[in-house]
Amino acid sequence: MALKKKNFDVIIIGAGPGGLSSAFWCAELGLKALLLEREDELGGQMLRTFNRIENYLGIETANGSEMRDIFLRQVKKKAVTLHCRAEIEAVDLIEKTVVLTSGERYSARAIVIATGVRRRELGIPGAAEFRGRGILESGEKCKNDVAGKRVMVVGGGDAALENALILSRAAERVFLVHRRGEFRARKEFVHECLQNKKIEVTLNAAVTAIIGNAEVEAVEIRDMLTGTTSLISIEAVLIRVGEIPNTELFHGQISLDDEGYVSVGPNCGTALAGVLAIGDVARPFAHTIAGAVGDGATAAKAIARFVIAAGNP
Ligand code: NDP
Repeated sequence: MALKKKNFDVIIIGAGPGGLSSAFWCAELGLKALLLEREDELGGQMLRTFNRIENYLGIETANGSEMRDIFLRQVKKKAVTLHCRAEIEAVDLIEKTVVLTSGERYSARAIVIATGVRRRELGIPGAAEFRGRGILESGEKCKNDVAGKRVMVVGGGDAALENALILSRAAERVFLVHRRGEFRARKEFVHECLQNKKIEVTLNAAVTAIIGNAEVEAVEIRDMLTGTTSLISIEAVLIRVGEIPNTELFHGQISLDDEGYVSVGPNCGTALAGVLAIGDVARPFAHTIAGAVGDGATAAKAIARFVIAAGNP
């Protein structure tokens, strides 16, 4: 069966805040843009943000979904082609073509990579088995479910410590377990956690298994200094051990750094002409909605001025 080929100025892959912003700005600048999102809904990580957002200047929302709705209302006023459930089979960054598993084929003059990051998983026994049966999705979302319970939070970054603080409001006790002797989270969170009488910190400890029957009942941890293992009985666990970039589609075609993030230069450009990367996938100094939105505008302007004007492929 012949594939349908459709031509655009720009194909944007990923519809988080960066992708939505880029699509908006492309339309604003008269570029014909296609926004591809593999999930059922547009919004990316905003859809998994359950806490209030109060640090995006100009808009305060109860959660990420509400902010997504506000973004989308504005994007939909523009002439942008939005395509959800777009599972990509192959991308050719030189030819600037994208083929979906559905058989649809698109081509463009520029590609914007806005695929974001996903949560790193621990890959230990029980981690997959107890998902939804004691493994929590988010502190904010699950704070009422842990009232009076013993909960563990794994990780040493901002996400782990912020969630430990949120859960401590309702939980009986929060065990905060981190693999090193020092947290990488910001000082304020570290200070608050150490002062919080409900939070018990265990450093230099790796979580090696999640154990239970119908629900999580305990977690096995290994002391990184002595090698000894022990069990902590808990009723729920939240894992926040960082993020990994969604760049598998581009392996072998573009320069990635040692952790798999896309390497970018000025104006969100990569070493490949007409290929730009924005937001979290481009390893920003600060992972923020504001940063991703700004990148989206920068990429669109760079495409309009340099890529299209110069007649780059
Ligand atoms: P980070 O990368 O900042 O931290 C990840 C933590 O997980 C580190 O402490 C790391 O340990 C640990 N870790 C990594 N791999 C493993 C493993 N295999 N086993 C055990 N522990 C592991 O990620 P976060 O998700 O915390 O934050 C991501 C970004 O989002 C950051 O830029 C952060 O600042 C931001 N953020 C900001 C918030 C805010 O400002 N309110 C809230 C949440 C996130 P080690 O330190 O040893 O490497």
